[in-house]
Amino acid sequence: SVRVRFAPSPTGPLHIGGVRTALYNYLFARKMGGKMLLRIEDTDQNRFVPGAEEYIIESLRWAGIQIDEGQGVGGDNGPYRQSERREIYQKEAQRLVDEGKAYYAFDTADELDAMRARLEAANAPAAQYNAITRMQMRNSLTMKADEVSSRIDAGEPYVIRLKTPRKEEVRLNDIIRGWVNVHSSAIDDKILLKSDGLPTYHLANIVDDHLMGITHVIRGEEWLPSAPLHVLLYRYLGWESTMPQFAHLPLLLKPEGNGKLSKRDADVGGFPIFPLEWTDPQTGTVARGFREEGYLPEATVNFLALLGWNPGTEQELFTMDELIASFDLAQVHKAGARFDIQKAQWFNQQYIRQRPDAELAPTVQQQAEAAGYDCPLERAEKIVSLLKGRVSFAREIFDEASTIFNAPTSYDETVATAKWNADAVRAVTAFRDALQRYSGLFVADDIKHLLSDTLTQAGIKQGKIMQAMRLALTGVGAGPDLMLTLEIIGKAETMARLEQALE
Ligand code: GLU
Repeated sequence: SVRVRFAPSPTGPLHIGGVRTALYNYLFARKMGGKMLLRIEDTDQNRFVPGAEEYIIESLRWAGIQIDEGQGVGGDNGPYRQSERREIYQKEAQRLVDEGKAYYAFDTADELDAMRARLEAANAPAAQYNAITRMQMRNSLTMKADEVSSRIDAGEPYVIRLKTPRKEEVRLNDIIRGWVNVHSSAIDDKILLKSDGLPTYHLANIVDDHLMGITHVIRGEEWLPSAPLHVLLYRYLGWESTMPQFAHLPLLLKPEGNGKLSKRDADVGGFPIFPLEWTDPQTGTVARGFREEGYLPEATVNFLALLGWNPGTEQELFTMDELIASFDLAQVHKAGARFDIQKAQWFNQQYIRQRPDAELAPTVQQQAEAAGYDCPLERAEKIVSLLKGRVSFAREIFDEASTIFNAPTSYDETVATAKWNADAVRAVTAFRDALQRYSGLFVADDIKHLLSDTLTQAGIKQGKIMQAMRLALTGVGAGPDLMLTLEIIGKAETMARLEQALE
């Protein structure tokens, strides 16, 4: 059965593109009734950043991407942190050496620099350690066996390199990209095990995908150039028959569509590029997150799911379950996907509307109280119900509510010039007088009847004065449902505002 993995390196905050990779893995796993693993690829100790692993786990949880097995969850194939598996990689690297598919190399940094300089001087096509150049270097292919073992015994640092074949065709059939053919001469003798005894990404990744029974490798396009090397490694390790299938996801492009999305675009464009806020442990710099910006997880997921895939229908709004039902790896696009932040806002707008009023009310209450207004929860809830259809983010509801919290301090001149006439003054006066006599419930429906009865009695056409009425009550010519607005404002405040307008 299907087993996929998300295998981030904890070198900093998870990029929003990483969340998309995790999401596609998750959708595919669920769709196929398979399992989703989380593996932490932390073998590059120079790039390890404290807190990054927790950040990754928290980000996935926020997005609703559930891990079935792996770091933070457990399972039968652990440990799931590569730094805790070094003996496993050492054993496989050693096996490759014993089988003549890899070798020890003792070259110092200076010697490697000298080789590079020689190759450059000779105008060699690609400066690399390969089938030809390896024969000029200090390694177990050019040294006598006893020299090799005495150097190792003496503790001399060495790496293990892949003995890349000189002339072989390496092919793979990527689910998204189709056939990829590479000649082995284009692959250099990659380091598999570093001098600190830790594996490189390539070795650890292949060994773990094999031992963890991974059936499909779904990852970003930036790994496509490494895929032929990985195929070669599967072959050399004797695991080619159970090699996973590959699917390389399209790049995320700048909002303008010109080139790869980078952190700088986010800074310039004023949008977040990380799922959650991240404080750099070294500099203390805070990077913004989708969560803190007010994006709902379901909106973020919906947005990300459609960056590089769509089911070929008009449908745009998908719950996680609907995404799972429609997702198909074969329909993922080859071309890069434009990171259209306006689209993300649009999705948020759609999902904010669906949230229950009671859930958004505390945000409004907090903002209102922080600004010095009295705002019981019940009132906040009514405000949410009136205004949530007009915003993209929960925090914008309070801004939209300024005409509720504040009596007009001025009146829109253009509307006043066009609409504030004798009839308007009569209507506002009559409504104020009617309210004075009125002792019923102050709720939208009843206020509406009271107003229309009053206007009928006064012989004023409602359509002619409604904008002026709104102007009198809110200072502006347009806004949300006026009767509901009055219900929230309350009777006393409504009357006071009418009074003020007549002064
Ligand atoms: N550790 C790699 C990363 O950070 C994993 C790539 C892969 O999925 O093979 O993206």
